[in-house]
Amino acid sequence: MSSPTSAVSARSQALFERGSAVTPGGVNSPVRAFNAVGGTPRFITSARGAWLTDADGNELVDMICSWGPMLLGHAHPEVLAAVNAAVARGTSYGTPTVPEVELAEEIVSRTPVERVRFVSSGTEATMSAIRLARGFTGRDMIVKFAGCYHGHVDSLLVAAGSGLVTLGVPGTPGVPDSATALTLVLPYNDRAAVTQAFAEHGDRIACLITEAAPGNMGVVPPEPGFNQFLAETCAANGALFISDEVMTGFRASRQGQWGLDGAVEGWRPDLVTFGKVMGGGFPAAAFGGRADVMAHLAPQGGVYQAGTLSGNPIATTAGLTTLRLATDEVYAHISAAGEVIKAGAAAALTAAGVPHRVQSAGTMFSVFFTENEVRDFDDAGTQHVAAHAAFFHSMLDAGVHLPPSAYEAWFLSAAHDDHAVQTVLDAFGPAAEAAAR
Ligand code: PLP
Repeated sequence: MSSPTSAVSARSQALFERGSAVTPGGVNSPVRAFNAVGGTPRFITSARGAWLTDADGNELVDMICSWGPMLLGHAHPEVLAAVNAAVARGTSYGTPTVPEVELAEEIVSRTPVERVRFVSSGTEATMSAIRLARGFTGRDMIVKFAGCYHGHVDSLLVAAGSGLVTLGVPGTPGVPDSATALTLVLPYNDRAAVTQAFAEHGDRIACLITEAAPGNMGVVPPEPGFNQFLAETCAANGALFISDEVMTGFRASRQGQWGLDGAVEGWRPDLVTFGKVMGGGFPAAAFGGRADVMAHLAPQGGVYQAGTLSGNPIATTAGLTTLRLATDEVYAHISAAGEVIKAGAAAALTAAGVPHRVQSAGTMFSVFFTENEVRDFDDAGTQHVAAHAAFFHSMLDAGVHLPPSAYEAWFLSAAHDDHAVQTVLDAFGPAAEAAAR
């Protein structure tokens, strides 16, 4: 592990100390901290394609991709050109704009939603979708799954994945019990628990929200037919089914996770939340769904929802350009690179005798440091996090930046070419040995 004073990260260390003096924990989102793995986060000064350059001049293969958005890789020339042209026309007007309409049309054309409303973060998208579901149904209870993360919405910060599980916090101070009293938390992939919850509270449940394929406890794919079962159970009980595709949208496949199950099985969620890829690396997110449900949003309907920078022309231009470039070839490339990397990780960990399990949802995947099948949050918790930390640091020392958590997906981009993939493969052997110690 690089020591805090190691020459390879001296500038990052100095910046982290400066940052920590003015920012809690030195980071602006907890998932960026190295608390779970030890050491100091790298400060990134530029990025191009699959590569990050840190403040000390180290070149690192990026396996975080901004936690999902950078589907095409960093600084894609066509995205940059579109963004630069948009910036030259002014950065925000507070009036409707052309790219908002075009991005909404693009999203409607490739997903199950009929209407879409833009916001600036995935958190706003899920928060607004929950409010809309409650306003539409006139009911108050919501259902979520343990290990699913839907942003830092008060009512959804119960048994959440992502940074909360990484840091080992079950909930958070600052959220009163009253904010979560109407939230039912169920084990993922557990049909009996869903059936029982609706049997007991069906007439009070406004909506069930789930990650379309959870990626915030590591990647835990829905068992075959599970999302369809959720959609049907909600419909049978007059509740709305909210599919959170903030992470999977335009990433798990061209049509997100829905392209892998709903489009094949012939069902649609009532509401869908999007973020990450659709913003092309800018703060843009969205929620959308059935036209009759979305008609309840202000100003068409009575459920209030708003945002000064919602549909910002720079962010929507970046998202639109990204989605237009996200062709079948892009997904095929990411999928193929992922297969090579998954096989390489599994082979190295097997050779070193490290218990592990590789799980995928479309082009998304993660490596668990446990030999158990991971079907839910409890299974994810059986991981050997110290082995992950050793693995992570060995990879970082070899020039590969994995997520600093055992509970996160690994992200690839269209720019992960043979050189980048080979750099990752070469790093696996020593990292697996380190994890075995
Ligand atoms: N929903 C899911 C599935 C996510 O993965 C995330 C973020 O990781 C969010 C919602 C929240 O998005 P944001 O961080 O943009 O608020």
